[in-house]
Amino acid sequence: MDPFLNSEPLSKSADHNHQLYIETVGCQMNMLDSELVVGAMRGGNYELTDDIGAADTILFNTCSVREHAEHKIYSQLGRIKYSKRTRPNLVIGVMGCMAQKDQEIIFERAPHVDIVVGTGQLAEIPRLIDETRENRQRQMAVSLGRRDGSRTQVAGSFESYDPLRDPEMRPSPYQAFVRIMIGCDKFCTYCVVPMTRGPEQSRSPSQITSEVRTLAGQGVKEVTLLGQTVNSYRHIEDGKEYRLADLLELIHDTDGIERIKFVTNYPKDMTLDLLQAVRDLPKVSRYLHVPAQSGCDEVLARMKRGYTVSDYREMMQRIHETVPDAAVSSDFIVGFCGETEESFELSMNLIREFRFKNSFIFKYSERPGTKADGLWPDDIPDDVKRRRNNEMLALQNEVSEEDNAEFIGREVEVLVEGLSKASEKRLAANPEAEDCHGDDASHKTQLVGRTDCDRIVVFDGNPRLAGSLTHIAVHDCSATTLLGSIVTRQLNHGLQVDLPVVS
Ligand code: SF4
Repeated sequence: MDPFLNSEPLSKSADHNHQLYIETVGCQMNMLDSELVVGAMRGGNYELTDDIGAADTILFNTCSVREHAEHKIYSQLGRIKYSKRTRPNLVIGVMGCMAQKDQEIIFERAPHVDIVVGTGQLAEIPRLIDETRENRQRQMAVSLGRRDGSRTQVAGSFESYDPLRDPEMRPSPYQAFVRIMIGCDKFCTYCVVPMTRGPEQSRSPSQITSEVRTLAGQGVKEVTLLGQTVNSYRHIEDGKEYRLADLLELIHDTDGIERIKFVTNYPKDMTLDLLQAVRDLPKVSRYLHVPAQSGCDEVLARMKRGYTVSDYREMMQRIHETVPDAAVSSDFIVGFCGETEESFELSMNLIREFRFKNSFIFKYSERPGTKADGLWPDDIPDDVKRRRNNEMLALQNEVSEEDNAEFIGREVEVLVEGLSKASEKRLAANPEAEDCHGDDASHKTQLVGRTDCDRIVVFDGNPRLAGSLTHIAVHDCSATTLLGSIVTRQLNHGLQVDLPVVS
């Protein structure tokens, strides 16, 4: 998954019995977990606040994929070390991957923490908070370790948590994440996820389709199906086996849903039937995130990724033959144990050869409990990792900008997500400056949307366009963004009109 999408506190406050501050670090799965926990807490008389100093309940939803993410949480915990002196009622909780991984260590390093809740026990959070406030006893709820029982026992201790949602916590009111599976059985040697999220378990198609129908009823237009290896989805219901291709077909029929995305993919499971589903189902985005991690066979073998560069190349060929207009993005780890300059160059060559739409690039950091940590020294100096990271980023940016330049002069359809970051900042700084919700329909502000192939497009328009499919003429670009202006708007009954003003 593309990690570190969000490390922001989540806000909104009002007059209410309890004030909850929640901060999320990590991938989309964590963002979804936070949304679900907040949904449950609101049912229990809690309101969100973005003021950590005003909260009586503080939750950190954590990530263990990289050391940096854990440091960030421990330093945040350090900042609130003495908060209970003035707020004796305060409850502090650590949830998610780091909670499952570190368990008691969290209490040792931060004795002011009251509850530690792993990824498989999120449903327990409201009860644990209540009990802690009542009896001031520390509480811990975590799942079994991968070696603490049979696969069935361990899997049973990780519960997929998918209760009612909190619409205000979504990326936008029109977009929602839907978990289709939890856990991972791939055991890449650098990764903690199989330990922190447990064995691979797919949710039933009937539960997933019912959740998507509910979301569509709430106005959601785009769903992103989530799984650590989402294309490994497999579930048997009423004697029939469902794979991701079958699930896409089922969801495709949901009224109101205009776009379906799925992340993150495992290269070996990018099967022809799945690609044919992407090709044949118009609501499915032509966007495939398939992390390569390295372009060197020896490194891939040490990572235990389960494929070679030649397997990856075959997969890319299958993608290009079946869905020629698909945009493919990747992840790379630089500075993995024993990565030579030649190995690194091979990864650079992979970017040159496949011209990924974008790549998420990370410097390797050893993670306690992983195979790599026990087997090989973290032997690439930090300055070398940093240089490789910068070189790869520069190359990927060059490729992305060249590819984006191909769109100049073309028209693209975007799902409008809302205000651009620049507009949001302007509005936050001066709420009077932009009448985003007023009746002045001629007022334009900067909006952001995404194409079917996940390219970000920025353009001027009325904020009331949010949630609609809109046509944009592209005039300019950067490595990350297309810049354009509105051409037409797709109306529900299929007509297109010029759009100087939108009502
Ligand atoms: S496929 Fe590998 S990198 Fe991805 S979650 Fe599973 S173990 Fe981690």
